[in-house]
Amino acid sequence: MANVSTLRFGAQTDEVTSLLRIVNMVRSGDAVTRPEIGRVTGLGRGVVAQRVDRAVEMGFLEDAEYAPSSGGRAPRTLRFRAERGRIVVCALGGQHIHVGVTDLDGTILDEAHRAWNIASGPEETLDTATAMVDDLLASGDGTPAWAIVVGLPGPVDFETGRPVAPPIMPGWNGFDVRGAFEQRYGAPVWVDNDVNLLAAGERARHRDEGIDLIYCKVGTGIGAGLVSHGRLHRGANGAAGDMGHVRVPGAEQVCRCGKIGCLEAVAGGWALVRDAHEAIERGATGVLADSAASGTDLTLESITIAATRGDALATSLVQTSARQVGEAIAALVNMFNPSLIVIGGAVASTGELFLAEVRHRVYELSLPLATRDLVIRTSESDAREPVRGGVDLAQEQLFEVSLPRWFADGRPTVAAVHGLFD
Ligand SMILES: [Zn+2]
Repeated sequence: MANVSTLRFGAQTDEVTSLLRIVNMVRSGDAVTRPEIGRVTGLGRGVVAQRVDRAVEMGFLEDAEYAPSSGGRAPRTLRFRAERGRIVVCALGGQHIHVGVTDLDGTILDEAHRAWNIASGPEETLDTATAMVDDLLASGDGTPAWAIVVGLPGPVDFETGRPVAPPIMPGWNGFDVRGAFEQRYGAPVWVDNDVNLLAAGERARHRDEGIDLIYCKVGTGIGAGLVSHGRLHRGANGAAGDMGHVRVPGAEQVCRCGKIGCLEAVAGGWALVRDAHEAIERGATGVLADSAASGTDLTLESITIAATRGDALATSLVQTSARQVGEAIAALVNMFNPSLIVIGGAVASTGELFLAEVRHRVYELSLPLATRDLVIRTSESDAREPVRGGVDLAQEQLFEVSLPRWFADGRPTVAAVHGLFD
């Protein structure tokens, strides 16, 4: 796409490059006064002044208060006009929809949450999700959406914004999710796997480090998001990190995907519920057996709560899951050498019980060099994490990836962002 910006700006490419760099510097807070911008970029005072004037004229930046003086006249600080557009994040899970609206800096302005079964299919689900987005935007001040990020609980082809053979989403295979949102809102849309959103949210905490991390979500299903040197690693088809369906040696259980012996089929939340039923039928006692006897449905939540309270059966189910997940992560550690592993999801919400077993397996099975500086911890337990991650993804795509293509228009358009010139 580099040739597109060359085409549109001709000989001014150097000017455009420095202008965009300055907008991003102020946006990220790396340099917020004209003298600071000069120091960081090495551009002369006159050139900096000219570029900043242009950015102000185009509506990206404006003058703000005076910075503390360091001797001479105090310089004026600049601020990025984050209020000009909205970022919308629509995080669809297996059993819920979470929608958030933020400004361009990622400050959450409004959000909504509801229970929803993703197996209801794409039409009904997207009608429901877009109605939630409509409500949030209508209760705002009319500022237009500049970017929409949609998270889905299955593999997604990021280039086309379509799910690819998602195991728990009947009817969604190949559905044009990106097109549906773009048509409705006239803003560029990015669709990604839900665990990638969580990985992006974690990455946002390590912006300056170019971090290598693995976010492993152990909920009803199991998946991982990989960040390599600060970039999400999606793989050739968007299937990277789909670790729930790697084969566990010796396992015979049938998986939701139709294969035999998948990690998810021995360690995922639905597998733990199945194993709890079987153990109780064989005579296991305790909190879970008591509640099953009283007619209460066994759920993943009841198992994790019982485990944190020390129930023997629940504890053993969670530890078995952690051991299997730990072995799968150890293999990833040897190949990928991350500095941080974050464990999230409902099963992992049992905290140290799960984490201790994962650590044990990873350190036992991974190479010493790969674990020398490795940190393994649980995720922030906050329902807003997918929204934060979606915002991070939107900011990356808007301001780092596609900005040269759309900035001349003053705001991102679908055609410019996705390179569709007529
Ligand atoms: Zn499977």
